[in-house]
Amino acid sequence: MRVEAAGVTNTGQLREINEDSFLVDNHQRLFAVADGMGGHQAGEVASATAVEALRAAIASGRAINDAISDANVAVFEKAVDDPGLEGMGTTMTALVAPSFGDQLLIGHVGDSRGYLLRDGELSRLTDDHSLVEELVREGRLTPEQAEVHPQRAIITRALGVDDHVEVDVYTITVRTGDRIVLCSDGLTTMVRDRDVERMARAGNPPQRIAEELIEAANQAGGEDNITVVVVDVLEVEAGVPAGAEFVRLDGPVTPEPIAAPDVESPEPVTDAFMAARGRRIWGVVFLVVPLTVVLAIAVGGVYWYARQTYYVGIDDGEVVIFRGIPGGVLGWNPTVEERTRLDASDLPDSTRRDLDDDGAARGSLSGAHDFVEELRERTTPSTTSTSTPTTTTRRTVTTRAPTSPTLAGTAP
Ligand code: MN
Repeated sequence: MRVEAAGVTNTGQLREINEDSFLVDNHQRLFAVADGMGGHQAGEVASATAVEALRAAIASGRAINDAISDANVAVFEKAVDDPGLEGMGTTMTALVAPSFGDQLLIGHVGDSRGYLLRDGELSRLTDDHSLVEELVREGRLTPEQAEVHPQRAIITRALGVDDHVEVDVYTITVRTGDRIVLCSDGLTTMVRDRDVERMARAGNPPQRIAEELIEAANQAGGEDNITVVVVDVLEVEAGVPAGAEFVRLDGPVTPEPIAAPDVESPEPVTDAFMAARGRRIWGVVFLVVPLTVVLAIAVGGVYWYARQTYYVGIDDGEVVIFRGIPGGVLGWNPTVEERTRLDASDLPDSTRRDLDDDGAARGSLSGAHDFVEELRERTTPSTTSTSTPTTTTRRTVTTRAPTSPTLAGTAP
């Protein structure tokens, strides 16, 4: 296999320093992106340490998953030795292109990504180890919700956090003309996949493609450090004859360089740690919190949100005030808080449909009360005149919007 590769990294528009690192090692045919995290430039140390340890491990003949495990230990030990580097960590997405055969190997931890562009179409090769993507995989968030989720920067796996890390390994069978893009989340949070696809399709060499993608991320705001490595597959010779030279002239003997390496079995979930990257909110703060605590806080927050919100809807043909979120959230379904004895069939058709679909006047209980009063006014006088205090109907117009600004911002 013949490849051509280039990498570019950029601090972006908002960050003071660049904590990303990348590796383009044409000699070893090894390419990697690492996105470091940790205060006081520790992230920079983490990503650089990981990339250098990876390079050294591959040079000594280690398989990709072992080499990334070595990189993990290197970052972890450095963090343990130096109090100033405590809590640092890094993502790593690394690619090895063997000289022979048609299979690339990708080793991956964190939320940097690998993409394959083939015949003009971009597909993602790696799963993000992030809280939101796990929720998407479990069907609890849509991809669209994940894109704008306030916790989208929380990652669930990183190098340097523990002395052991689970490495995802992918074997990718490639063809001549394929293009691989490795990138940090500074690209993917700023530039949509379809725009990456459009730009990566161009017939320009890897260096130019990487520069253009970084330019696009910066144009979109450049909120994070941005790193892009582009690897073009120039030529593939599939079907290497048995016993062909699996000996690299310049390196150690690797008897089965193309075989997928064994992936170590994962640690129990209770031993997992979460790396929380809240840099967009907290500046350069790196939090390492046990999985259970983070989940408990997240679930508690959702419960609180679900239970202190009210809206007006229809139950059994009667207008009622519900407590909760229309359709429910994480299994907490809305409950009827108050019945109004207002007959839904007395409402105008369009209003009744709106109430039936998603409810209305989502927000505080008093906002819901006001909206019910407005509904009474819309009904035919004969059915509701006895219970309609006409003096309160005017003020309803201003209270229909969600009354709490935080709710308005986070409503699904
Ligand atoms: Mn990043």
